[in-house]
Amino acid sequence: MLDLAIIGGGPAGLTAGLYATRGGLKDVVMFEMGMPGGQITGSSEIENYPGQGEIKSGMDFMSNWPEQAMRFGLKHEMNQVSKVEKNGDTFKVFTVDNKEYEAKSVLLATGSVPRRAGFKGENEFFGRGISTCATCDGFFYKGKEVAVVGGGDTALEEAVYLAKLCSKVYLVHRRDTYRAAPSTIEHMKHTENIEEVTNVTVEEVFGDASGVTGLKVKSKETGEIRDLPTPGVFVFVGRDVLSDSLKQEDGSYICDTNEQGEVIVDLNMRTSVPGLYAAGDVRINAAKQVVCAAGDGATAGVNIIEYLG
Ligand code: FAD
Ligand code: NAP
Repeated sequence: MLDLAIIGGGPAGLTAGLYATRGGLKDVVMFEMGMPGGQITGSSEIENYPGQGEIKSGMDFMSNWPEQAMRFGLKHEMNQVSKVEKNGDTFKVFTVDNKEYEAKSVLLATGSVPRRAGFKGENEFFGRGISTCATCDGFFYKGKEVAVVGGGDTALEEAVYLAKLCSKVYLVHRRDTYRAAPSTIEHMKHTENIEEVTNVTVEEVFGDASGVTGLKVKSKETGEIRDLPTPGVFVFVGRDVLSDSLKQEDGSYICDTNEQGEVIVDLNMRTSVPGLYAAGDVRINAAKQVVCAAGDGATAGVNIIEYLG
């Protein structure tokens, strides 16, 4: 029987593991389906983690976190959790390869995944010219033109990053104001090879057997259609939380969530089910920042130790 099963090895899960094991819990397993580090490892740079003056890529920034978290006995199971079940006062945790674990407490720290925008050709060309990771795929478009779809922090930051590699970046947004931080907007506007294509809808991404050859946008004001001839299209239109592992056979969640599946927690990261906690981007009202996810993880770790007595 595990003391604690942590699902997710991003900033929230790693920090919870560090606090739980350093605070004395013995059998703590962190289930992470990929490499530990979380979604920030796909970011070109992070400059707002307090105390870190040096601007680093997300990958570099997270590189020391797993080793530190595991120094006090946290175990890493590289596996995807498919389901969490309540089992009296304890929990059963199932993985996709049909392994089963029993745990006295569970922390859901599964974060989120990129959302699809829903335009024609998006699914067909995903991975063949359409990407959601500029640091992973930007290099393929070195010296070429690319388009970035979206108007939030991610879209603008990654457009600036891509502008350093690519000859030109079309920043395609459905409105003419952005929801990114003012400093990020300023940075984007001062980047010469970014062309803002605003107030448009993406009609379709088109291509041939070799992949994407361009995207078609339509002006919301005039209805005018324009073809942008780009072999690469980066889509950053927000993210959906990953909380399906808390769903039961009938589709309902084992604890309270909102309509988007974000887990409802109190200030101690407790869900409506005793022993079940949630932290980081997967919880309601998350600020969606690394520092906040780490803070949630620490809060959860401390409170789980108290819960287990
Ligand atoms: P995540 O980081 O999403 O980690 C969740 C982990 O759980 C993942 O590793 C995933 O593989 C794993 N997982 C999910 N489901 C399962 C399962 N069923 N079984 C096993 N493992 C599972 N924040 C900032 O503060 N500053 C920035 O500059 C910044 N830039 C960003 C740039 C980009 C491109 C993106 C996408 C995000 C950025 N953010 C930034 C936001 C920040 O990355 C997130 O707020 C933070 O990573 C959330 O941490 P988390 O631990 O809650 O979730
Ligand atoms: P976001 O803030 O939700 O922005 C999504 C953008 O995509 C919005 O501009 C939205 O348009 C647009 N959009 C949504 N659906 C669309 C569709 N179907 N078609 C076309 N456009 C669509 O998402 P995000 O940029 O990924 O950021 C997620 C969270 O992480 C935010 O809280 C953000 O602050 C945080 N984050 C922080 C940093 C940082 O601190 N440096 C960096 C990255 C992310 P509208 O504006 O019209 O809604």
